Amino acid sequence: ILDKDGDEIVYRSLKPLPPLAHSNLASFILQDACIKYETRTAMVNGATGVEYTYGELREWVASTAAGLTALGVKQHDVVLVLSPNLPEFPVIYLAVLFLGAIVAPSNPLGTESDIVKQVKQSNARFVVTVPEQLSKFQTFGRIPIILIGITIDAPITLFSELKNLKLVAEDAGAENIPAYPQTQANDTCTLLFSSGTTGLSKAVQLTHANFISAITAYNTLEPGQSTMETDVCLAIIPMFHVYGLGIVMLATLERGASVVIMPRYSLPQMLSYIEKYRITVATIVPPIIVSLVKSAEVAKYDLSSLRIIATGAASLRQDTMEACATMFPQCILRQGYGMTELPLISFSVVEKERLQWGSVGVLVPGIEVRVTDAETGKALPPLATGELWIRAPMVMTGYLNNPEATAATKDSQGWLHTGDLGYVDTDGLLFIVDRLKEIIKYKANQVAPGELESIMLTHPSILDVAVIPIPDEEAGELPCAYVVRREGTDISEIHVMDFVGKQVAPYKKVRKVIFTESIPKSNTGKILRRILIERHNRTQ
Ligand code: AMP
Repeated sequence: ILDKDGDEIVYRSLKPLPPLAHSNLASFILQDACIKYETRTAMVNGATGVEYTYGELREWVASTAAGLTALGVKQHDVVLVLSPNLPEFPVIYLAVLFLGAIVAPSNPLGTESDIVKQVKQSNARFVVTVPEQLSKFQTFGRIPIILIGITIDAPITLFSELKNLKLVAEDAGAENIPAYPQTQANDTCTLLFSSGTTGLSKAVQLTHANFISAITAYNTLEPGQSTMETDVCLAIIPMFHVYGLGIVMLATLERGASVVIMPRYSLPQMLSYIEKYRITVATIVPPIIVSLVKSAEVAKYDLSSLRIIATGAASLRQDTMEACATMFPQCILRQGYGMTELPLISFSVVEKERLQWGSVGVLVPGIEVRVTDAETGKALPPLATGELWIRAPMVMTGYLNNPEATAATKDSQGWLHTGDLGYVDTDGLLFIVDRLKEIIKYKANQVAPGELESIMLTHPSILDVAVIPIPDEEAGELPCAYVVRREGTDISEIHVMDFVGKQVAPYKKVRKVIFTESIPKSNTGKILRRILIERHNRTQ
């Protein structure tokens, strides 16, 4: 919706964002739902079939919070959680937040060196993890570790198993903690790791108010377009990502619906979960939709329970969206746009008759958009393409201990420069056209070109290198390295890929190498990626 703000053109949602009802995200999620839906199923461990009602969830969170207190977790402490999707994840998350402490969720696919950096970057005082991930903490002799699952004999300070936290609390006489510390809505509750628009991974500080606003906005979508109390939702998007944590897990619980938690993705398993648990809302990512529309497996399962298929976190090709609509005529197809630095910006429901396939939808309540001309800095009118700047209660406070990166992303007027190029049409629908920022999205995972480049530059045969995204039907984008060989060397494509592959998480691998004479650079030595991308697209 077009609005005139002085001589600024700003687009705003037509609906206002209701005032925040809570200052703590955990009480916002649990308070009403747990009382109203005491006996209803809140979570199901998809792998074991074990169910937890809202009443049980509340008790589990309370006893975990008491146990954590007995172990020494205090307000403002950071607890790093490295775990696949399991029911324990939201329990520990909510318990930590009740204590006014902060959760830093980390990607289980990260290498030991990624995790070491994140523990330091976030200043984590405690770790919660699963036995398979323990070895990544071997250099942290003293960090207290809380283990999900069975105790194993490990050469690390093991404080407790998560399921025993209740006993820990009882032993300490702390099971009835009188009152949790007061939190302010603008206190940080979560640190998420993201490369943002440029450079290496940073810790994004999100507050209670950021999440509460995003979830409130999500749950005020038209009835039927977002989750309803009667829905059974699939939680396959990893909970270390803002989409899996905020929009799938927390928004579903706030709504009082049921969530079926799936620890690891495989297409047949996802299909069997949909059939077995009569899933109604499947929130997935574009690469999963690609395999869904291409796979013969789909016909073997009864998927008739599905009423919403939702996608987000990366762009979805129109032909894939159309194929999905044809395959699931009974379903609402929905696309969401957001980013780690601001969990939710817009939502669209594909309206087949209006053929708005490419749109990421209307702005959710609370969002303001300024489409900014990259050269002049002017705010642009409808249909003109520019960088999307967003101002909203959902926008992060900044990157932890990184004022330069924060200032480069969030300006003094509170606009977050998304690094996405797009426009708003005359109906107020938002379209994303391209990405200005460096980040590559491989199967919806972030890959930072700079990280791969600095690894390759340590190879004696590589003189210079630049990594760019190249389009791929299945993965969305692939990291492709343009490499300048040092004179007299003849390093091969496979060798370069292996060299990087051994040092990074699997989703960050270089997938293609092209040898070149030189890398285009600006006067200041900055890689001109756009030129390489255009050159690549011309030659393919
Ligand atoms: P992340 O911080 O990992 O969530 O990445 C956020 C970025 O993913 C956005 O700035 C966009 O570039 C991209 N993105 C997220 N959702 C969409 C979407 N629906 N369509 C196109 N790109 C998207």
